Amino acid sequence: MCGIIGYVGRKPALPILIDGLRRLEYRGYDSTGVALVQPSEVTVLKAAGRLSVLEGTLDYDAHPQTHGIGHTRWATHGAPTNVNAHPHADSSGKFAIIHNGIIENNRTLRTYLEQKGVIFTSETDTEVLVQLIAQLYEGDLEQAVRLALREVSGTYGMAVVCADEPDLIIAARKGSPLIVGVGQGEHILASDAAAILAHTTQVVYIGDNEIARITPDSLRITTLDAVPVAKETEEVEWTLDQIELAGYEHFMLKEIYEQPEALENCLRGRIDLKEGVIHLGGLADCARELTQAKRIIITACGTAWHAGLVGEYLFEELLRVPTETEYASEFRYRNPIIDEGTVVIAVSQSGETADTQAAIREAKQRGALVIGVVNVVGATIPRETDAGVYLHVGPEIGVASTKAFTGQVAVLALISCFLGRRKHLSPSAAMQFMKALSAIPDQIRTTLGHADTAEKVAREYASRENWLYLGRGYNYPVALEGALKLKEISYIHAEGLPAAEMKHGPLALITDGMPVVCIATTGSQYDKILSNISEVRARGGSVIAIATEGDKDIQDLADHVLYVPDTLEPLQPLLTVIPLQLIAYHAAVIRGCNVDKPRNLAKSVTVE
Ligand code: GLU
Repeated sequence: MCGIIGYVGRKPALPILIDGLRRLEYRGYDSTGVALVQPSEVTVLKAAGRLSVLEGTLDYDAHPQTHGIGHTRWATHGAPTNVNAHPHADSSGKFAIIHNGIIENNRTLRTYLEQKGVIFTSETDTEVLVQLIAQLYEGDLEQAVRLALREVSGTYGMAVVCADEPDLIIAARKGSPLIVGVGQGEHILASDAAAILAHTTQVVYIGDNEIARITPDSLRITTLDAVPVAKETEEVEWTLDQIELAGYEHFMLKEIYEQPEALENCLRGRIDLKEGVIHLGGLADCARELTQAKRIIITACGTAWHAGLVGEYLFEELLRVPTETEYASEFRYRNPIIDEGTVVIAVSQSGETADTQAAIREAKQRGALVIGVVNVVGATIPRETDAGVYLHVGPEIGVASTKAFTGQVAVLALISCFLGRRKHLSPSAAMQFMKALSAIPDQIRTTLGHADTAEKVAREYASRENWLYLGRGYNYPVALEGALKLKEISYIHAEGLPAAEMKHGPLALITDGMPVVCIATTGSQYDKILSNISEVRARGGSVIAIATEGDKDIQDLADHVLYVPDTLEPLQPLLTVIPLQLIAYHAAVIRGCNVDKPRNLAKSVTVE
């Protein structure tokens, strides 16, 4: 959450900061602001609301400064107002800070500083940090930051500038990502590679508990205790095209339509149909230990948790190993039981999710082998896990996750087959599974070909304020995911359920014409879900069925049918989720919602 950008170089900083903020706006859009530095003066420009509000007030010619920082906020402490917008200056106006995260002991520090006569202007936890730095400053910004951070508990990705040291940014992180792009006579600091790519693909990752001293020509990283840290410059794989809209109206729509190609990239080189094996280089060193796992815990949040739930069903079926999927936020605080032979799999698109990070630390401390399933290469989770598999689905900018979900399910399917083959899965069963998985990208293409039906459904029901999503078996997590998509971007209340649970309460909600999305693809529970559909119909609900191509009978039971191609039951979520993503997208557009920047939400949840 929250976008951070900083520039020190020889070009005017303001346009670079604004362009960076535009690319980071999906991480927070409560307010935006920049601080521009020149000898003996720091100028702060900020505004509540979207970046466009700030942009409307800017006079680029008036700001030739070649050094500055910028921020898009996702408020945690204090309303999204002008005053609470970052950057925050200290009382002297000499220092300015931007911050992502939460200073947990901000109240104690505020009281302490107030007793020393400091007068605060904002309600934020962040202002405490800049006031503290100003108090501790004795001519060396890096040292003042170091001393201040010793007093702070909580999480931060932060950058601070000072009018007395005009060519310098000091950045530090604990729990929130920070990357430095290395250019010719310039450095660009950002919370996300997306803001750096327009300038360079050469980056240095700042680690947790590290401080970076950044000038146009030098970058020095030390630990909080001032021990120098040697860093290699790494290459970012993503290209600028991938993080732009490419003619689509929204990132979410682009990412829905990218899924065939994204999954091809995800599966490329991993399924070897000739040899009948799956190659997962990231798991090669621990394959033996994984095969001996007695229990698997998948931990994740949000959409990744839904993908994890599909993984639970996959692992239990293909590996016959007891598997549970746990919310990372619950797992981390509930003293979990980790026995010998427990493997923990952490699933996260960004690889920065705060709760998931904490869950893996907890699991590691208790001796578990921890595997990461992450999209963003080089993020914190893949650095902290013992081994892992990247999704390789390309950058996901839309706040509502789409291609990362299918990527996560595909990777969990790969892992289950990779390990299953080493256990109970026969060569022919594994081959059948691999062939079916290889066919998925094309089958998603076919499914996207029926997008107009999804739009029609959205048009008919977008004004309804309550929806139900029902699924059984592998499609139960898809029902949860479909409901979540609708909630997060169109603000319609929706609930996902295992279809049979409906009778134990939620059936009471069904009124005439209430949209009930039923995932009713052919498989072991087909007849059961048909019965559930009849129960909905009998109470006047409008049934929107997701069914297997060729199933004509279901047309008699449903008001609308959206077809997906036939595949193995464990792989159905990769197809059945597609129409649900499209319905949610179109419903949001019809309702006039901001699809890519839904209210109150932001991408990459780096606060707990
Ligand atoms: N806690 C800070 C605030 O509320 C930072 C929030 C953010 O990450 O954007 O201002």
